[in-house]
Amino acid sequence: MIKVRFAPSPSGYVHIGNIKTAIFNWLFLLSQKQKGEDCVFLLRIDDTDLSRTKQEYIDAVKEDVSWFGIKWDETFHQSSRFNRYNECLEKLKKDGRVYVCYETQEELEAKRKRQIARKLPPVYDRASLNLTEEDKKRLEAEGRKPYWRFKLNDGDVVFNDLVKGECRFNMKHLSDPVIIREDGTYLYNFPSVIDDMDSGITHIIRGQDHLTNTAMQIQMFEALGASFIPQFAHYPMILNAEGHKFSKRQSDISIRSLKNDGIEAMTIANVLVGLGSANGGKMYKSMEELAKTFSLSNYGSAFSRFDMDTFYKENGKLLRILDFDDVKDRLLLIDGRIDEYFWNMVKGNIEKLDDISYWVNVVYGEIEPPALSNEEKKFINSIIDCLPVDFNQNVMKIWAEAIFNATGKKGRDLYHPIRLAITGIEFGPELSQLLPLMKRDKVIERLKNIK
Ligand code: GLU
Repeated sequence: MIKVRFAPSPSGYVHIGNIKTAIFNWLFLLSQKQKGEDCVFLLRIDDTDLSRTKQEYIDAVKEDVSWFGIKWDETFHQSSRFNRYNECLEKLKKDGRVYVCYETQEELEAKRKRQIARKLPPVYDRASLNLTEEDKKRLEAEGRKPYWRFKLNDGDVVFNDLVKGECRFNMKHLSDPVIIREDGTYLYNFPSVIDDMDSGITHIIRGQDHLTNTAMQIQMFEALGASFIPQFAHYPMILNAEGHKFSKRQSDISIRSLKNDGIEAMTIANVLVGLGSANGGKMYKSMEELAKTFSLSNYGSAFSRFDMDTFYKENGKLLRILDFDDVKDRLLLIDGRIDEYFWNMVKGNIEKLDDISYWVNVVYGEIEPPALSNEEKKFINSIIDCLPVDFNQNVMKIWAEAIFNATGKKGRDLYHPIRLAITGIEFGPELSQLLPLMKRDKVIERLKNIK
């Protein structure tokens, strides 16, 4: 069985970086299912830092993930597992794999500066390992608060990453990670390993910003006696146009702001999955289809720069591949008169689904009368009389022939002013498709109303 997890920290709204992890895990799972594997998706809420957690963000995670069609089979909160984390901590204390420290941030910083000045790697020197019981009492009497580090073993940690291939870390170059803060709260690394072990996660798929964590976490799995160590996959990060990591504080990158702006979930999924992929660039209308082309081995290590405008540019491309049935329910909420014919006529001319309202108004409602040049106005006035009486499928063809016979105009000279007068704008669906949907009186009214 294959088991993956998405483990967001609910301290902000889900943004494009987080959702990329959820999407990659989901597509990996779907692609394995398509090969006949049994698969389980776990949604884990990483809320050990209760001071930064908000219920609103937890609700938002569930809503935003569901918007992508991602369905979890299991879910739990880390905050419900503190007893278990304490139990594991006690085991590691007994085994001598965690140790207590008392240095302040300032003292650690001063040590780091000295190391850098001496051209040494700024790795924690394990001074606290030598503290006697008396030292500890004295430090606590001074009012210092204990915190705990996990003691890394020396030597190399090697693992075979499903994206990057073999990864090797010389553990001497890493500081023993703090696992419990002065205030007694757990940092991310340790509870995550306990949960991954207890839940039987087989594949951990996440961004390359976690590579060093992985090296340390592998030693934690071993120290805790895990029966197996999951496989890891670290996909390349996306950076903004300036080359920086996206941050939760940048509100326009949240999934809900993109959704409110009319961007489709599948646009976001296609764009994020396409970045840095050997076979990116094509649009798929469902996660199932996207999963058929998805493979972790499509990615390399190079980070991709990315501009948020891409979502806006690509959204129209997605709409063009959607069939009426894919969007029917949402279209009916916009206007009950939109049918399959209407959708197929208009979908090539809109960038967001809501843009279709404009075309509903063109056909059934009112538009702002457009301004035309004097010459165009004269032309429009001259062609009202030859508008066919019968508004059938050929109405535009018949009208154009009559106009040509009367004025000698054809091509752009003929269609451009008509399009402007009837639709109010320069671009849009074929007039030959649009006109049969309209009432003759409305067309005449538009032709007369130009400014
Ligand atoms: N809560 C962690 C985060 O959001 C999970 C990282 C992981 O996938 O292990 O960064």
